[in-house]
Amino acid sequence: MNITKQNKIIKTDYLVIGGGMAGLQSAISAASRGLDVVIAEKADTRRSGSGANGNDHFACYIPECHGDDFELVVRQVNMTMDGGPWQDPTMLRLWLSRSFEIVQFWESIGIRMRPTGKWNFEGHSVPGNQRYHLKFDGQNQKSALTKAALDRGVHIMNKTPICDILLNDEGRVVGAVGIDISEEQPKLIVFQAKAVIIAAGGAGRMYPGITPAYMFNDSACPADAGTGHALAYRSGARLTNLDMAGGHAGPRYFARGGKGTWIGLTSDIHGNCITPYQDKPSRENGDIASDIWPGSYRERMQAGTGPSYMNCTETTDEDLEYMLHDAFVSEGIDSITDHLKQRKINLRDSMIEFGSYNIGFSSQGIDIDIHGMSTVPGMFAAGGVAGNVKGSLSGAVVIGMVAGEYAADYVKTVEECTVENHPTLQARLDQCNALLNRQEGAHWKEAASTLQNIMNDYAGIQIRSENMLTAGLAYLRQLREEAQAHLGAANSHELMRTLEVLDQIDIGEPFFLMVLNRKESRGPHHRSDYTYTNMLLNDKFQTIVKTKNGVVLDFRSSW
Ligand SMILES: Cc1cc2nc3c(=O)[nH]c(=O)nc-3n(C[C@H](O)[C@H](O)[C@H](O)COP(=O)(O)OP(=O)(O)OC[C@H]3O[C@@H](n4cnc5c(N)ncnc54)[C@H](O)[C@@H]3O)c2cc1C
Repeated sequence: MNITKQNKIIKTDYLVIGGGMAGLQSAISAASRGLDVVIAEKADTRRSGSGANGNDHFACYIPECHGDDFELVVRQVNMTMDGGPWQDPTMLRLWLSRSFEIVQFWESIGIRMRPTGKWNFEGHSVPGNQRYHLKFDGQNQKSALTKAALDRGVHIMNKTPICDILLNDEGRVVGAVGIDISEEQPKLIVFQAKAVIIAAGGAGRMYPGITPAYMFNDSACPADAGTGHALAYRSGARLTNLDMAGGHAGPRYFARGGKGTWIGLTSDIHGNCITPYQDKPSRENGDIASDIWPGSYRERMQAGTGPSYMNCTETTDEDLEYMLHDAFVSEGIDSITDHLKQRKINLRDSMIEFGSYNIGFSSQGIDIDIHGMSTVPGMFAAGGVAGNVKGSLSGAVVIGMVAGEYAADYVKTVEECTVENHPTLQARLDQCNALLNRQEGAHWKEAASTLQNIMNDYAGIQIRSENMLTAGLAYLRQLREEAQAHLGAANSHELMRTLEVLDQIDIGEPFFLMVLNRKESRGPHHRSDYTYTNMLLNDKFQTIVKTKNGVVLDFRSSW
């Protein structure tokens, strides 16, 4: 089978790569400012990405609830999972200060931001502080945002993953290449765009999951496979903080269900609470242990003091009913509720074991400025793919909105540039045809599991050293050569998966280079050969850029 090429070039002002939460919001914002906008989405915007089934909390600042002392708000949000290190303080201030605009807009398009009739903040909070996580009902968020985008004239192309960004000779974005995978036979689609936003989510499945045989049992959307990071890196955009990637935590072996807003206490096997935050289950605060120290479950197992559990045996009946049948439903994770019912597990009698999940790159990636623009002119980024801003859902959609607004000004400053004969098109066609025509080709899963093993064994979360990292990087490079020479794909779906794994290998390289270059121990990065923390690197973010003259690593100040 060969890939075909669509003759018609899709021309637009603003191409949105990924119609997840950040992408949809960015498209709406840009279209509202008069731009012609196209979304290219790998799956279907009505039900794709980490927000596919819903979300239930939205970190935000609402002055009428939190008061006028914005500095207090910043300090307290910094103590939650949406603040903390590895986020430029200016970016935290930016998304927080504009978060209420999104809340109001979403309410106007039919997302229930006040399911109880009032602004209700619950969970993910430090006891004694104000609460900032607005409890909302996100069940319909993807369909509502899709409709809002269509209503504003956005053209949505589902089943069209993007695999290349096109730059002109000056190094500015002029288009992209996607593949229509809606049919058995794939079709190459060429986009001519004055600006793009990469909103393809985090990079998951880089490490073995909690159930390695079931690769898609991942705590984030498994379709968010690092292509956004790879597109940016290959285009010469600066990436940051990959070396600080950690993982999530939640019900052990049930990663796909997500962590959820549990109302219980993190406890040992005897039911004794093991964290200092509260001694009674609290619907108001939730249990922040798994938010702020997700690695603790792994560490306790390694130390022989585990397992650790979510203990809801003292949670009131009313709160249990609410958690299982309202909160989990709003977040789209009520498969947990179904499972408990099917197995006749009563949370009043049984604790649920929690586990630390694998490393994923979310909020580690493209270094962006206050307009959401990367170091490549015309390339914006928002959401899990961005490396210097956190805030989960809220950070993703506010920066998506900001980027869409700024793109409206940016596109007026650049000329359209024809991409018809761009050399990348033929190179991509040739590569796809080679993969599709390899009768004896190896399956993408062979490369995917090899990559996961290399990442885990040589750049894992437990211990790293120059020797291990050097050996791992050599294996990774060898894997790239082998994969390019031997992988095969039988149809458009397999082609998509094969290109994903090649992108993941591409992202493994800057990650290895960054952890090698961080000659200290800090956060999730433990070096046996540099065990101390180098105070000179406090408040510094490591960056990496691929240039024509080689790779440039640096440490920049946070701003
Ligand atoms: C079960 C679960 C519950 C959660 N609950 C909450 C919550 O309550 N509150 C909160 O703050 N956060 C929550 N999160 C996190 C939140 O959903 C994410 O922070 C948010 O979705 C990130 O937005 P994003 O646009 O970066 O990525 P996503 O929303 O994941 O969107 C990325 C999109 O890009 C598409 N894509 C990927 N690669 C390509 C490509 N090459 N070309 C085109 N398209 C591509 C994907 O299909 C996807 O649609 C939850 C996550 C999960 C998994």
